[in-house]
Amino acid sequence: MANPKHKFSKQRTAKRRTHDFAPVPTLATCPNCGATVIYHRVCPECGYYRGRQIIEKSVE
Ligand SMILES: [Zn+2]
Repeated sequence: MANPKHKFSKQRTAKRRTHDFAPVPTLATCPNCGATVIYHRVCPECGYYRGRQIIEKSVE
């Protein structure tokens, strides 16, 4: 009995796999210390977010 050679076309497989990888997060610059931080996240360098200190950093 004849069988189809391929279940899906290459285009259909590629279109499905467009969502297989996590997108690169949007990066922003911290207005407090100038470090590159992930958008909408507390700055890991100084602990500031939206002009307020969220995470206490030990003073060295
Ligand atoms: Zn910062």
